[in-house]
This record gives sequence, structure tokens and C-alpha cells, in this order.
Amino acid sequence: MDRYRITKGREFRLADWDPGETKGFDGGKVEARAELAELTSKLDDLQEKLYANGRHRVLVVLQGMDTAGKGGTIRRVFEGVNPSGVRVAAFKAPTEPELAHDFLWRIHPQVPGNGEIVIFDRSHYEDVLIVRVRELVPPKRWKARYRHIRDFERMLADEGTAICKFFLHISKDEQGERLQARLDNPHKHWKFRLSDLEERKRWDDYQEAYEAAIQQTSARQAPWYVVPADHKWYRDLVVCRTLVKTLEALELDYPPSPDDLSDAVVE
Ligand code: AMP
Ligand code: MG
Repeated sequence: MDRYRITKGREFRLADWDPGETKGFDGGKVEARAELAELTSKLDDLQEKLYANGRHRVLVVLQGMDTAGKGGTIRRVFEGVNPSGVRVAAFKAPTEPELAHDFLWRIHPQVPGNGEIVIFDRSHYEDVLIVRVRELVPPKRWKARYRHIRDFERMLADEGTAICKFFLHISKDEQGERLQARLDNPHKHWKFRLSDLEERKRWDDYQEAYEAAIQQTSARQAPWYVVPADHKWYRDLVVCRTLVKTLEALELDYPPSPDDLSDAVVE
């Protein structure tokens, strides 16, 4: 899955990345779902070790355009994992008190603690995405945020947090189909907002903003993964494989009991 990892953003051009490709897997949806089932069970074991060790923290950032599948990815990738070991933090439009503070104020309390995996469904990146596209603060302010984000993530990494940032990359055509499907299905209207159509009109501005964010905030200790997400089964596979690899790299073991168990007898 290294092919999708960006650790140096300078040369990154979003136009070079095909949202519809499935090159990292030899097979189709059915085979991919089978592999995903194996991977999620691995992820479950790894999560248990992470918790047992209690020394590492894992932060997963999910970003993408509307309908890119942030919710679906969370559901599929973590369905086999013990719910006690993972937490989702969703970041919506900021509240009044949140707006009265710096943009990281609401983010920092949600980062993972020891032994924890936290998934950010949207994140501090909204503050250089929608905020940039919609000009919610003056340019001088959002421009400085790339540096603040780099520094913040470096601090988290230095303090023991493994960070994976996923951009779920869909094409404009695919988004059109998914929005239409939502509109055609009354059971999906609860997650349809007229503002989604307004955001879609700004598609190119958003692509530019995503490109800039990835260029400016990719780092060895906080890589971006550009996930081809037009095919849901491929998207889930790429995310899950990446997480399994990231957790495996921590070389987790089951720690011994704090007690000496050599004479322990169950009567
Ligand atoms: P959803 O994830 O579809 O429920 O929508 C949440 C909405 O909140 C999206 O339109 C986001 O762009 C918006 N949002 C999240 N964070 C921010 C932020 N920091 N500033 C402005 N809007 C935000
Ligand atoms: Mg939405």
C-alpha cells in the first residue's frame, strides 16, 4: 500500500491520481471482501495488543468530499474490532464556543491516549479546506494553519502517536451518482443538505485545497494516503491494509502479568 503514501508533498499533484484504479489488488469485489474479513480480524488482534501494551496511541484521520465514504469506511474497516478499543470523533461545523477559540482547541482533547485508536471523521483539515474555499477566515489566517498543523502533528508523533491520514479520493462523476442516489432514496434524505449541492459547484476549488493540504502537511511521521475511492471495496481494502501495516510496525507483544504467575493455581 506504499504506492498511496505521501511523505513528501512538494511534488504532489492530485491530477496524477486516478480515483477509479484498483491496481493493488488482483481480483474483484468478491475476493476483496474475503481479504477484508481476514484483515479486520487481524486488526482486532492488533488492537487488543495495542490496548494490552498501553504504550502507543493511533490517530486515523479521514477526509474526503461529500459521499466519499468516510462513514462506510469506518463501518467496514472496524466492524470486526472490539468497540472498547476504538473511538470515533466527528467534527462538524464549529459551535459558538469552538469558534471563539483557535482551530485546534476542539481537536486536541479528542486525540488518542495510551492504547487507544481514535478515528477522526473530518478533522482539523476542515480549517484549511471548507474554511479556505468558503473564505470563512482571511487568507492570512488559513495560510498560517498549514504550519500550525505540521507542528501539532509533529508534537503528537514525538509524544508517541502513530498518525495515518487518509484522503478518500472520488471522481466528480462518482460523486454525482452518489448524490443522485441519495436524492432518489427518502431513507437517505437525512444526510442530504442543499449545501451539499453548493459545495459540489466548488469542486475544483476543493480539489485545489486538498492538493495544497497534502503538499504542505505530508511528513514521514504523519503521512497522507491518497485512497482511490470510486470502488468502495477497494477503498476499504486500502485503508484496512494500511492500518494493519501501521500497527504491525509498532511490533506489539502481549505484556506479562504485573504479578508473578509461576505458582498461580486455579482451584
Ligand atoms: P457531515 O460530515 O456531512 O455531517 O457535515 C459536516 C459539515 O461540517 C461539513 O460540511 C464540513 O465541511 C463542516 N465543517 C467541519 N469542520 C468545519 C470547520 N472547521 N469549519 C467550517 N465547517 C466545518
Ligand atoms: Mg454531508
